[in-house]
Amino acid sequence: MTGTAIELAAAIRGGSTTAAEVVDAHLAAIEATEPTIHAFNVVTAEEARVAAARVDQAIAAGEPVGPLAGVPVAVKDNLCTNGVATTCSSKILEGWVPPYDATVVQRLAAAGAITVGKTNLDEFAMGSSTENSAFGPTRNPVDTGRVPGGSSGGSAAAVAAGFAPLSLGSDTGGSIRQPAAFCGVVGVKPTYGLVSRYGLIAFASSLDQVGPFATTVADAALLLEVIAGHDPADATSIRQEAPRIVEHLDDGVAGLRVGLISELMGDGIDPDVAAQVRAAADALAAAGAMVEEVSVPAVTYGLSAYYLIAPAEASSNLARFDGVRYGLRVDAPTTNEMMVATRTAGFGAEVKRRIMLGTYALSAGYYDAFYGQAQKVRTLICRDFAAAYERFDVLLSPSTPTTAFELGAIEDPLTMYLNDTCTIPTNLAGHPAMSVPFGADRAGLPVGVQVLAPGLGEVPMFRAAAAIEAAAPSTGKTPTGKDA
Ligand code: GLN
Repeated sequence: MTGTAIELAAAIRGGSTTAAEVVDAHLAAIEATEPTIHAFNVVTAEEARVAAARVDQAIAAGEPVGPLAGVPVAVKDNLCTNGVATTCSSKILEGWVPPYDATVVQRLAAAGAITVGKTNLDEFAMGSSTENSAFGPTRNPVDTGRVPGGSSGGSAAAVAAGFAPLSLGSDTGGSIRQPAAFCGVVGVKPTYGLVSRYGLIAFASSLDQVGPFATTVADAALLLEVIAGHDPADATSIRQEAPRIVEHLDDGVAGLRVGLISELMGDGIDPDVAAQVRAAADALAAAGAMVEEVSVPAVTYGLSAYYLIAPAEASSNLARFDGVRYGLRVDAPTTNEMMVATRTAGFGAEVKRRIMLGTYALSAGYYDAFYGQAQKVRTLICRDFAAAYERFDVLLSPSTPTTAFELGAIEDPLTMYLNDTCTIPTNLAGHPAMSVPFGADRAGLPVGVQVLAPGLGEVPMFRAAAAIEAAAPSTGKTPTGKDA
């Protein structure tokens, strides 16, 4: 049986199917099209079958089971999984097997979810197409000539291809929302600190956040409830309970104040994408929301600030891959030469570019001009968002400037970075944002509408997302056969 996570969980609990049947159906889907899609670095079929049998035993014995009991889930391969290789799609982690589970992985298991595999990504989550993976690109299930977006392209593709109804990604500058938009699925970047980063291999620690992919807004809300909430193992974890979102999904948007960000609706945005975002805004207005355009001027500087701050943090975080502690080691006569040889062989071109950029931005004499300046811009972005949220409950923009592009179409790094224009500002502010599929461009490729909210504004964000989903026209090219 296949379906949404909520449908599957109810059917398994109700006895009309079993976790074993559900897992087998998804493993069969993987077997059929994974050779083309390449969503996974590893499929953990055996472990999944064992876990499914355990869920079925618990249900048969009348024991209480979690809200996701028996539901297959795919996990981005930068989240640590005890006993299962975790690679970040990098050669430098070759052979490394984590001795512990990330907190989110523990919470999935506690909720009864069944991990079916680890998904492909741009190496160390640096990229927007999954083409930077050391193990080859993932293809977009909507159109296999196109990229699924990145860096969580494998997680988005796994859900879009029906390999699992749910998956986890990480979002540092758009890596959940951009692939969600490209693959026609829902993707959520929660408020910074709402979901534990313990066991997420760090890229840029002040921006990284784990979040859900799903085919529906309700499934995404349920998965977020499962993974959110305080974790003492993460020093930046917010000290409060996970928000209750699912119970608010039918609250509607009457009176909700929605601001359409004018800076993200003009230059550089494909007119087909902008048209769908306007249509989504109209749909919210028709459902009773108060919709207006709003200027958030500093968002236009987000990209430049991010591409200093994120590489700066990455240059420090990735210093730990030294040939001594994890994975690959290329032997050489001295320790120093061993480290150089290991890092030269182990890191791909984009990761090296970021390390060099970040090291430069942090170096004596340039720190104030680059890193310091970028931090000031970050403050300006926070200030402009705060001003907008005095007048609006949520904001709206495209998730991405364009729809999915063809594999190999973008070779120049700067052009690739432009993919993140709409998503990066929220990461810099620490706010939540999500991408909801709404309509298609003239080629039939899915468009993602981004709903943004102030810190811990997940409930109004999901209410708006649910209303957008309810009004979404069908696109013709939906990956899983659901109405988009
Ligand atoms: N595409 C962005 C980058 O390359 C965002 C990555 C992410 O969110 N992990 O840095």
